[in-house]
Amino acid sequence: MLFRTHIVFSLVVYFLLSYILEIPFWVLGFVLLSTAFVDIDIKNSKFGNQWYFRPLQWMTKHRGALHSLIFALLLSLFIGIFTLWGCFGFFVGYFSHLFLDCWTKSGVRLFWPLKFRVKGFVKSGSWVEDIIFVLLLFINIFIIGKIFYFQIFI
Ligand SMILES: [Zn+2]
Repeated sequence: MLFRTHIVFSLVVYFLLSYILEIPFWVLGFVLLSTAFVDIDIKNSKFGNQWYFRPLQWMTKHRGALHSLIFALLLSLFIGIFTLWGCFGFFVGYFSHLFLDCWTKSGVRLFWPLKFRVKGFVKSGSWVEDIIFVLLLFINIFIIGKIFYFQIFI
């Protein structure tokens, strides 16, 4: 899936979780950071074009180890050494990224190192993804609109 789709989806997940939990606003930074982070294993992603990610890209294929639950957990736990909310936010962003990629035709090796791939029917960058993106964008506009409406009028 494209960078923009991951961002709008993570935002929706964050807002929905904020309804249930009292999440500090800065945690959103961790959510967005991690959702963008997962695709550094491919050269033509938003941040993957940085030279310092090249060695990592030689080591792992796109949608390889980095696109797995075990890495989501390990990296989140590492962040948890410094901040628990950061750990939570990082995992939420990471998981939402993996969840979306599971719907793509090329799929994700969610349980890496197992070879098994979780696959869907959406082609990355296709019109189906465009529709998903627009829908998620509207949900965000609706939620953000609601938050500001209540902040102004209550
Ligand atoms: Zn991905």
